[in-house]
Amino acid sequence: MDAAEINYCPCCDAGLCPTDVKHFVWDILHKWEAHGVAFSEETWANYPENCELELFSCPNCGFGVFLPMLTGTDAFYIDVTRNEYYLADRWDFHVAIKLLRANGAGSVLDVGCGQGAFLARVKQSLPKVACSGNDANPAVRSCLPQGVPLYTSLGDVPDGLDAVTLFQVIEHVAEPAQMLADAVTKLRQGGMVIVSVPDHSGPIRFFSDSHTAIPPHHVTQWTPASLEALFSKFGLKIIARKREPLPDYLMPFYLHKIIANSLGCMGDPVREAQIREKLADPIIRFCQRFGIKSLPVKGHTYLVAGTR
Ligand SMILES: [Zn+2]
Repeated sequence: MDAAEINYCPCCDAGLCPTDVKHFVWDILHKWEAHGVAFSEETWANYPENCELELFSCPNCGFGVFLPMLTGTDAFYIDVTRNEYYLADRWDFHVAIKLLRANGAGSVLDVGCGQGAFLARVKQSLPKVACSGNDANPAVRSCLPQGVPLYTSLGDVPDGLDAVTLFQVIEHVAEPAQMLADAVTKLRQGGMVIVSVPDHSGPIRFFSDSHTAIPPHHVTQWTPASLEALFSKFGLKIIARKREPLPDYLMPFYLHKIIANSLGCMGDPVREAQIREKLADPIIRFCQRFGIKSLPVKGHTYLVAGTR
């Protein structure tokens, strides 16, 4: 997928528009290094020094894509996953386990399974469900729960599954629509697909320059409308839409920004600092004191489940 090939939104087919958001890829790699990641010579060599990436966005559904398309290479992911990359416990895992249970799923494939954190939770909560994982990185095989097969290619996965999950994975790949289409072919008729993405209509839009939210890590941007449009495009019947509330561990990063935005003083460093001190920090202390784990405002993730 390059600039010549992607003039149209892969979710809703509207024409994509250029934006003024641009980044040089080596500047982004330097940001990662400033945050403690050391890139190998191979990783640096994977990316051209003077390559500028430009964000194109869909005026209809809010989908975004950085072009030219530069995804994370094997060497890039070896470097960024060396320390604390995979979260063991996530909101979307809990939602998905409830959906698997409610739908009586007997089998599940996790696409982009990483070290198998979700499959380990399924094994624990729903021990009768047959689990399998798909990840391009064969090194994760030894991390998966005992007896869970790893398929490094989606093409090798047997058909007829009850459920397929894609947690925070389609934003990493060059062809997200194709990835979803390939995953759906593994389902039996009536089987369920669950997809979660970072929601760019939520508070992460206040941090859209963050090195983790742009290429080579995230190459596309998603909104509830774009994810639902993609489900419709593939004829999937949407059975659940879930928005993550703001979890306690993200409150220190997001809460003052959310309040500043709602008060119309976003980007004013003095007002933002006052809001953090006088409003956000007291709310966070209150939540800590009374064991409140989340607030009912838009958090990081949006999840959609649909049946084939
Ligand atoms: Zn669109």
